[in-house]
Amino acid sequence: MQALRGTQDILPKDIWKWNYVEKKIREWCRLYRFGEIRTPMFEATELFLRGIGDTTDVVTKEMYTFNDRGGRSITLRPENTAAVVRSFLEHKAYADDNVHKVFYIGSMFRYDRPQAGRFREFHQFGVETLGSYSPAADAECIALAVDFFHSLGLKDLKLLINSIGHVECRKAYRERLIKFLEPKKNQLCDDCKERLYKNPLRVLDCKEDGCKAASEGAPQITDYLCEDCHNKFEAVKKYLTALGIPYEIDSRLVRGLDYYTNTAFEIQY
Ligand SMILES: [Zn+2]
Ligand SMILES: [Zn+2]
Repeated sequence: MQALRGTQDILPKDIWKWNYVEKKIREWCRLYRFGEIRTPMFEATELFLRGIGDTTDVVTKEMYTFNDRGGRSITLRPENTAAVVRSFLEHKAYADDNVHKVFYIGSMFRYDRPQAGRFREFHQFGVETLGSYSPAADAECIALAVDFFHSLGLKDLKLLINSIGHVECRKAYRERLIKFLEPKKNQLCDDCKERLYKNPLRVLDCKEDGCKAASEGAPQITDYLCEDCHNKFEAVKKYLTALGIPYEIDSRLVRGLDYYTNTAFEIQY
Protein backbone atom coordinates (compact mmCIF):
# COMPACT_ATOMS: atom_id res chain seq x y z
CA MET A 1 0.00 0.00 0.00
CA GLN A 2 1.08 3.59 -0.59
CA ALA A 3 0.03 6.92 0.89
CA LEU A 4 -2.80 8.41 -1.18
CA ARG A 5 -2.01 10.83 -3.98
CA GLY A 6 -1.51 14.34 -2.63
CA THR A 7 -0.68 13.17 0.89
CA GLN A 8 2.70 12.70 2.51
CA ASP A 9 4.39 11.20 5.52
CA ILE A 10 6.49 13.51 7.61
CA LEU A 11 9.36 11.34 8.78
CA PRO A 12 11.45 11.60 11.95
CA LYS A 13 14.42 12.89 9.96
CA ASP A 14 12.36 15.90 8.81
CA ILE A 15 10.13 16.58 11.77
CA TRP A 16 12.58 19.03 13.36
CA LYS A 17 11.92 21.46 10.52
CA TRP A 18 8.18 21.30 11.15
CA ASN A 19 8.68 21.70 14.87
CA TYR A 20 10.98 24.67 14.31
CA VAL A 21 8.52 26.51 12.07
CA GLU A 22 5.59 25.76 14.37
CA LYS A 23 7.62 26.99 17.36
CA LYS A 24 8.27 30.27 15.54
CA ILE A 25 4.57 30.60 14.74
CA ARG A 26 3.66 30.12 18.39
CA GLU A 27 6.30 32.60 19.54
CA TRP A 28 5.14 35.33 17.19
CA CYS A 29 1.47 34.71 17.89
CA ARG A 30 2.14 34.98 21.60
CA LEU A 31 3.93 38.31 21.10
CA TYR A 32 1.05 39.58 18.96
CA ARG A 33 -1.45 38.15 21.45
CA PHE A 34 -3.25 35.70 19.21
CA GLY A 35 -4.55 32.69 21.14
CA GLU A 36 -4.44 29.21 19.65
CA ILE A 37 -7.69 27.55 18.60
CA ARG A 38 -8.21 23.96 17.42
CA THR A 39 -11.43 23.18 15.64
CA PRO A 40 -12.52 19.76 14.33
CA MET A 41 -11.03 18.34 11.12
CA PHE A 42 -14.52 17.87 9.72
CA GLU A 43 -17.71 19.90 9.88
CA ALA A 44 -21.22 19.82 8.46
CA THR A 45 -20.93 20.43 4.71
CA GLU A 46 -23.42 23.27 4.98
CA LEU A 47 -20.95 25.34 7.00
CA PHE A 48 -18.60 25.57 4.03
CA LEU A 49 -21.37 25.97 1.46
CA ARG A 50 -22.75 28.96 3.31
CA GLY A 51 -19.51 30.22 4.79
CA ILE A 52 -17.19 30.19 1.80
CA GLY A 53 -19.72 30.88 -0.93
CA ASP A 54 -20.90 28.39 -3.49
CA THR A 55 -19.29 30.00 -6.56
CA THR A 56 -15.72 29.45 -5.43
CA ASP A 57 -13.55 26.64 -6.77
CA VAL A 58 -12.97 25.41 -3.27
CA VAL A 59 -16.65 24.66 -2.85
CA THR A 60 -17.61 23.65 -6.38
CA LYS A 61 -14.73 21.29 -7.15
CA GLU A 62 -12.32 20.74 -4.32
CA MET A 63 -14.13 19.61 -1.19
CA TYR A 64 -13.79 16.19 0.37
CA THR A 65 -17.46 15.59 1.05
CA PHE A 66 -19.06 12.33 2.06
CA ASN A 67 -22.03 10.95 3.93
CA ASP A 68 -21.22 9.46 7.30
CA ARG A 69 -22.90 6.33 8.60
CA GLY A 70 -25.74 8.40 9.98
CA GLY A 71 -26.42 9.83 6.51
CA ARG A 72 -25.16 13.34 7.38
CA SER A 73 -23.15 15.23 4.79
CA ILE A 74 -19.69 15.82 6.23
CA THR A 75 -16.75 17.76 4.75
CA LEU A 76 -13.07 17.64 5.66
CA ARG A 77 -12.17 21.26 6.31
CA PRO A 78 -10.81 22.95 3.16
CA GLU A 79 -9.87 26.05 5.21
CA ASN A 80 -10.31 27.13 8.80
CA THR A 81 -12.02 30.53 8.81
CA ALA A 82 -15.57 29.19 8.55
CA ALA A 83 -14.99 26.85 11.49
CA VAL A 84 -13.46 29.63 13.61
CA VAL A 85 -16.52 31.79 13.01
CA ARG A 86 -18.80 28.84 13.76
CA SER A 87 -16.98 28.28 17.02
CA PHE A 88 -17.06 32.00 17.88
CA LEU A 89 -20.84 32.03 17.47
CA GLU A 90 -21.44 28.66 19.13
CA HIS A 91 -19.55 29.71 22.27
CA LYS A 92 -21.08 33.19 22.22
CA ALA A 93 -17.60 34.68 22.35
CA TYR A 94 -19.07 37.88 20.87
CA ALA A 95 -21.01 38.52 24.09
CA ASP A 96 -18.10 40.19 25.86
CA ASP A 97 -17.65 42.85 23.19
CA ASN A 98 -13.90 42.33 23.04
CA VAL A 99 -11.70 41.90 20.01
CA HIS A 100 -10.87 38.20 19.64
CA LYS A 101 -7.60 37.20 18.04
CA VAL A 102 -6.95 33.54 17.29
CA PHE A 103 -4.50 31.48 15.28
CA TYR A 104 -4.48 27.90 14.09
CA ILE A 105 -2.07 25.41 12.62
CA GLY A 106 -3.32 22.21 11.07
CA SER A 107 -4.20 19.99 8.15
CA MET A 108 -6.69 21.20 5.54
CA PHE A 109 -8.03 19.12 2.66
CA ARG A 110 -8.71 20.03 -0.94
CA TYR A 111 -9.21 17.71 -3.86
CA ASP A 112 -6.84 19.71 -6.06
CA ARG A 113 -4.71 18.54 -8.97
CA PRO A 114 -1.54 17.48 -7.17
CA GLN A 115 1.47 19.48 -8.39
CA ALA A 116 4.81 20.63 -7.02
CA GLY A 117 4.30 21.98 -3.52
CA ARG A 118 0.55 21.37 -3.55
CA PHE A 119 -1.03 18.60 -1.58
CA ARG A 120 -4.54 17.35 -1.02
CA GLU A 121 -3.80 17.25 2.67
CA PHE A 122 -1.84 20.42 3.32
CA HIS A 123 -0.77 22.30 6.41
CA GLN A 124 -1.92 25.80 7.07
CA PHE A 125 -1.15 28.48 9.61
CA GLY A 126 -3.70 31.26 9.82
CA VAL A 127 -4.85 34.07 12.07
CA GLU A 128 -8.28 35.62 12.53
CA THR A 129 -9.27 38.84 14.25
CA LEU A 130 -12.96 38.93 15.17
CA GLY A 131 -14.87 41.92 16.48
CA SER A 132 -12.90 44.72 14.88
CA TYR A 133 -13.33 46.66 11.64
CA SER A 134 -10.20 48.65 12.33
CA PRO A 135 -7.63 48.89 9.53
CA ALA A 136 -5.09 48.55 12.35
CA ALA A 137 -6.16 44.90 12.63
CA ASP A 138 -5.27 44.38 8.96
CA ALA A 139 -1.89 46.06 9.39
CA GLU A 140 -1.25 43.98 12.50
CA CYS A 141 -1.95 40.76 10.63
CA ILE A 142 0.40 41.76 7.81
CA ALA A 143 3.10 42.79 10.29
CA LEU A 144 2.83 39.43 12.03
CA ALA A 145 3.28 37.58 8.74
CA VAL A 146 6.29 39.72 7.79
CA ASP A 147 7.93 39.31 11.23
CA PHE A 148 7.35 35.57 11.11
CA PHE A 149 8.95 35.16 7.67
CA HIS A 150 11.88 37.37 8.63
CA SER A 151 12.48 35.31 11.75
CA LEU A 152 12.83 32.23 9.53
CA GLY A 153 15.68 34.02 7.78
CA LEU A 154 13.74 34.82 4.60
CA LYS A 155 14.98 38.02 3.02
CA ASP A 156 13.87 40.18 0.11
CA LEU A 157 10.21 39.54 0.73
CA LYS A 158 7.79 41.34 -1.54
CA LEU A 159 4.55 42.47 0.09
CA LEU A 160 1.67 43.10 -2.30
CA ILE A 161 -1.51 44.76 -1.09
CA ASN A 162 -4.87 45.71 -2.56
CA SER A 163 -8.36 46.54 -1.38
CA ILE A 164 -11.41 44.74 -2.74
CA GLY A 165 -13.81 46.99 -0.86
CA HIS A 166 -17.01 45.94 0.87
CA VAL A 167 -19.97 44.14 -0.71
CA GLU A 168 -21.57 47.27 -2.15
CA CYS A 169 -18.52 48.81 -3.77
CA ARG A 170 -17.60 45.42 -5.16
CA LYS A 171 -21.03 45.13 -6.77
CA ALA A 172 -20.48 48.28 -8.81
CA TYR A 173 -17.03 47.11 -9.78
CA ARG A 174 -18.24 43.65 -10.79
CA GLU A 175 -20.67 45.16 -13.30
CA ARG A 176 -17.95 47.33 -14.76
CA LEU A 177 -15.52 44.41 -14.96
CA ILE A 178 -18.04 42.14 -16.68
CA LYS A 179 -18.64 44.85 -19.29
CA PHE A 180 -14.90 45.12 -19.85
CA LEU A 181 -14.31 41.36 -20.18
CA GLU A 182 -17.43 40.39 -22.11
CA PRO A 183 -16.12 41.36 -25.59
CA LYS A 184 -13.00 39.23 -24.94
CA LYS A 185 -14.88 36.27 -23.63
CA ASN A 186 -13.44 33.91 -26.25
CA GLN A 187 -9.91 34.51 -25.00
CA LEU A 188 -10.77 33.25 -21.51
CA CYS A 189 -10.06 29.74 -20.27
CA ASP A 190 -13.06 27.45 -19.68
CA ASP A 191 -13.04 28.09 -15.93
CA CYS A 192 -13.06 31.84 -16.46
CA LYS A 193 -15.83 31.70 -19.07
CA GLU A 194 -17.89 30.20 -16.30
CA ARG A 195 -16.59 32.63 -13.66
CA LEU A 196 -17.23 35.69 -15.78
CA TYR A 197 -20.81 36.23 -14.61
CA LYS A 198 -20.62 34.49 -11.26
CA ASN A 199 -17.31 35.70 -9.89
CA PRO A 200 -15.53 37.93 -12.45
CA LEU A 201 -12.88 39.07 -9.96
CA ARG A 202 -11.38 35.61 -10.15
CA VAL A 203 -10.50 36.21 -13.82
CA LEU A 204 -7.98 38.80 -12.59
CA ASP A 205 -5.92 36.27 -10.68
CA CYS A 206 -6.19 33.44 -13.21
CA LYS A 207 -2.73 32.32 -14.32
CA GLU A 208 -3.73 31.29 -17.87
CA ASP A 209 -2.10 33.43 -20.58
CA GLY A 210 -5.36 34.13 -22.41
CA CYS A 211 -7.01 35.37 -19.24
CA LYS A 212 -4.02 37.50 -18.32
CA ALA A 213 -4.11 39.10 -21.77
CA ALA A 214 -7.87 39.62 -21.69
CA SER A 215 -7.76 41.38 -18.35
CA GLU A 216 -4.85 43.63 -19.37
CA GLY A 217 -5.91 47.23 -18.77
CA ALA A 218 -9.03 46.18 -16.83
CA PRO A 219 -10.61 48.79 -14.56
CA GLN A 220 -9.06 48.76 -11.09
CA ILE A 221 -11.14 48.07 -8.05
CA THR A 222 -9.40 50.74 -6.01
CA ASP A 223 -11.07 53.32 -8.31
CA TYR A 224 -14.48 51.98 -7.26
CA LEU A 225 -14.09 52.04 -3.51
CA CYS A 226 -16.64 53.97 -1.44
CA GLU A 227 -15.29 56.67 0.82
CA ASP A 228 -15.20 54.42 3.86
CA CYS A 229 -13.30 51.60 2.08
CA HIS A 230 -10.96 54.12 0.48
CA ASN A 231 -10.14 55.63 3.88
CA LYS A 232 -9.59 52.19 5.35
CA PHE A 233 -7.13 51.29 2.63
CA GLU A 234 -5.29 54.59 3.11
CA ALA A 235 -5.07 53.87 6.84
CA VAL A 236 -3.62 50.39 6.25
CA LYS A 237 -0.94 51.93 4.03
CA LYS A 238 -0.22 54.59 6.64
CA TYR A 239 0.20 51.97 9.39
CA LEU A 240 2.50 49.84 7.23
CA THR A 241 4.65 52.86 6.52
CA ALA A 242 4.75 53.70 10.22
CA LEU A 243 5.85 50.11 10.95
CA GLY A 244 8.61 50.40 8.36
CA ILE A 245 7.11 47.66 6.17
CA PRO A 246 7.54 48.35 2.44
CA TYR A 247 4.70 47.34 0.13
CA GLU A 248 3.52 47.51 -3.47
CA ILE A 249 -0.05 47.97 -4.63
CA ASP A 250 -1.20 45.16 -6.93
CA SER A 251 -4.62 45.83 -8.39
CA ARG A 252 -4.88 42.25 -9.68
CA LEU A 253 -4.62 40.88 -6.20
CA VAL A 254 -8.13 39.70 -5.45
CA ARG A 255 -9.36 36.73 -3.53
CA GLY A 256 -12.29 34.70 -4.68
CA LEU A 257 -13.90 33.84 -1.38
CA ASP A 258 -17.23 35.60 -1.00
CA TYR A 259 -16.69 36.71 2.56
CA TYR A 260 -13.49 38.61 1.84
CA THR A 261 -13.70 42.39 2.09
CA ASN A 262 -11.25 45.28 2.05
CA THR A 263 -7.56 44.50 2.44
CA ALA A 264 -6.04 41.64 0.46
CA PHE A 265 -2.33 40.92 0.70
CA GLU A 266 0.25 38.47 -0.47
CA ILE A 267 3.89 38.02 0.47
CA GLN A 268 6.16 36.73 -2.25
CA TYR A 269 9.59 35.28 -1.83
ZN1 LIG B 1 -8.79 31.78 -16.68
ZN1 LIG C 1 -17.02 50.14 0.31
